[in-house]
Amino acid sequence: MRGLAREDDIGIRLTVLGSGSAGNATLLQGPDQPVLIDAGLSYRDVARRLDTVGVSPHSVGAVVITHAHGDHTRCAALFSRRHDVPVFATMATRAIMESSGAEVAAWGQLACDTSCDICGLRFTPFEVSHDAEAETMAFVIETPDGTVGYATDVGMVTPALRTKFRDCRVLVIESNHADDLLQFGPYARSTKARISGSRGHLSNESLARFVRADLGPSVRCVVLAHLSRVNNVPEIAEMTCREALAGCGRDEVQVIVSRQDRVAETVDLGVWAARRGTQGYQVALPF
Ligand SMILES: [Zn+2]
Ligand SMILES: [Zn+2]
Repeated sequence: MRGLAREDDIGIRLTVLGSGSAGNATLLQGPDQPVLIDAGLSYRDVARRLDTVGVSPHSVGAVVITHAHGDHTRCAALFSRRHDVPVFATMATRAIMESSGAEVAAWGQLACDTSCDICGLRFTPFEVSHDAEAETMAFVIETPDGTVGYATDVGMVTPALRTKFRDCRVLVIESNHADDLLQFGPYARSTKARISGSRGHLSNESLARFVRADLGPSVRCVVLAHLSRVNNVPEIAEMTCREALAGCGRDEVQVIVSRQDRVAETVDLGVWAARRGTQGYQVALPF
């Protein structure tokens, strides 16, 4: 499918640089400077992984934070200072980061259900169910090549998430654990309860239920995020999602599994765009 796109058809691109409980960072390359969503890997890892996709850290225009857990914020302040870019976060998340010593070049403000233009992309944050000290944001991101839904830490699929993800073209969503692997795995009972609770992390099975019941007709790609290395297996997460897609006649939807230790396949939203912005040429449509 991707092979049909010409070199000059490259559109908005999304690459999960790494995802899991040891650190999360995603690169979104839009019409302006690239944006980092979360910076929860070490600075060295972020810089190295950006390099593997041909992006200099100096070219990044902003860091956008989902919530104040260390696996999402780890190198945000250092990245901000080193490259003189703003860190966008809600006031409460900013307060938590500052209380733990984060000094950034500049802050940008996110507010629930309020759109914010960042590097030519329109981010609309909304709250999801997760156990960070301050609220956890998911994003609807409007781009010239379609809308991205982004939610990496979600204890349950809420009505808001269901509604806001309906008209997206690409979804990045958590597929944290397999229910049985968590249940019979090595974690303490209290940790298992936290992870599987409504403010914890989304299981493969919960994601499959969402896919079967609520996947919007415009969704072309689902990127599975925040897989547990202890309580999940990438192949099981992928199979569970693919089975759900097949079960509702949506085999055509692309599934990408993000990993903790390596950069995931890049999603080029231009592949699905009927017409590319100002250039006005037709993309070779795969269907
Ligand atoms: Zn996380
Ligand atoms: Zn979290």
